[in-house]
Amino acid sequence: MKSFFDGVRRHIGNMDAEHLREQYRRLSDEVLSLDTLFSTISQGIIVLDERGEVAKSNPAARELLGMDPEDALQMLAIPHGKSSKREIDITYPEARALEIQTVPMGDGTLVCLRDVTAERERTEEELRIGATRAVRDLAAGVAHEIGNPLNALSLNLQLLKRSCACAVEVDECIRQVERLSGIIHGFLQALRPSKPNLVRGTMADPIKGCLRAMKPQLEERSVTVTLNLPSTLPSVALDPAQMEQVFFNLLKNALEAVKDGGSIDIALSSDDNDVITTVRDDGQGMTPEQVAHLFEPYRTSKEHGTGLGLMISSRIVRDHGGTISVESELKKGTTFTIRIPRIERRIRALKG
Ligand code: ADP
Ligand code: MG
Repeated sequence: MKSFFDGVRRHIGNMDAEHLREQYRRLSDEVLSLDTLFSTISQGIIVLDERGEVAKSNPAARELLGMDPEDALQMLAIPHGKSSKREIDITYPEARALEIQTVPMGDGTLVCLRDVTAERERTEEELRIGATRAVRDLAAGVAHEIGNPLNALSLNLQLLKRSCACAVEVDECIRQVERLSGIIHGFLQALRPSKPNLVRGTMADPIKGCLRAMKPQLEERSVTVTLNLPSTLPSVALDPAQMEQVFFNLLKNALEAVKDGGSIDIALSSDDNDVITTVRDDGQGMTPEQVAHLFEPYRTSKEHGTGLGLMISSRIVRDHGGTISVESELKKGTTFTIRIPRIERRIRALKG
């Protein structure tokens, strides 16, 4: 635009009427398109004259300020003839953050207004994520450090139990130390998952291993567990220790959900693609709201729960290429279903 005027000014003495008309047409086209831009742009623009009064403003400026720019100028004490930039919070017509920038322009001032609400929220979100990550790393470090003295404590308590007369109290200490170890173990596993070390096996093995380990707790509560195994079971690629952890989490939840004397049914089957394991309990069940938030971290309905068991389990199942799903009815019970791909399918999928 500036070079256009310079050009016209330089040559105006030599221009004939036709030439001048042509330049005028070009100029009016240019002004028209600038005018369209001015009135449709989402940034607010106010042009102040040499006295600092509003010479021109666009609809976006009025909309962003929620009032007449003349009134807003006085209220906001917008500097005239200077470069400036600041952010203000406005509450009307809605709560938002406005960036106001002024640029000297000739004798007047150009005022640009921009809605930076979303930008500011994004920055805050990034800060929050950064802070969460820092806290998480710190927590993981601390948890790891607590693990070692806890192990030593547990070992010494076992020794103490053999030689002292207060076995009941020592037993209670051992139980509490084990609980602490369990919490820390779960926490660390949730924060630092390890990829499964896959070997060929069947889903029956980790289930049996888990049932053996949990036998005393199940018996103490007189909970019956039935295991329904088909005569042949296709192989899967699994990390036995991680899969045992999944069943430990599911059975522990089931045990905590059923009444004394309740029952838990585990059934294994297969279809063309997957080996399917269901763990069903006749316990207290869950509300639709609880089900909706299942597998999310730190969601627990228990006084001493961590809300990490299902999250870790679902991650392990996913890392095995499988899926985990749940069906539950309040006061009736809950069924978890795990599908792990049959090894032939995995190989087929890998071959593409
Ligand atoms: P935690 O057991 O530490 O609470 P989990 O991740 O294992 O954490 O379980 C999360 C929540 O899901 C539990 O607190 C409980 O409310 C619900 N839940 C899980 N399994 C069952 C179940 N079999 N029956 C009823 N509620 C369950
Ligand atoms: Mg649990």
